[in-house]
Amino acid sequence: MAIRYHCRHCETEVGRLPFGSAGEVQALHRLADGEAEDFITEGEDGEVTVRCICEHCQESLGQFPDYYALQKWLQ
Ligand SMILES: [Zn+2]
Repeated sequence: MAIRYHCRHCETEVGRLPFGSAGEVQALHRLADGEAEDFITEGEDGEVTVRCICEHCQESLGQFPDYYALQKWLQ
């Protein structure tokens, strides 16, 4: 089982962490708060995917902040 970090814009796998306890997943859910359903998905096998942003997209968004408002780019 693992926590996978996927870029929500380009679907690149940013990273992968093994996790040991359900408590860590619950902590992630607390971090994401009400937006948990958008950013965290839990597979049937217990693997958790966190939708985040990769360095490349973060840079692009930094240079072109207008895209951030659109939210739909590259989708
Ligand atoms: Zn990306």
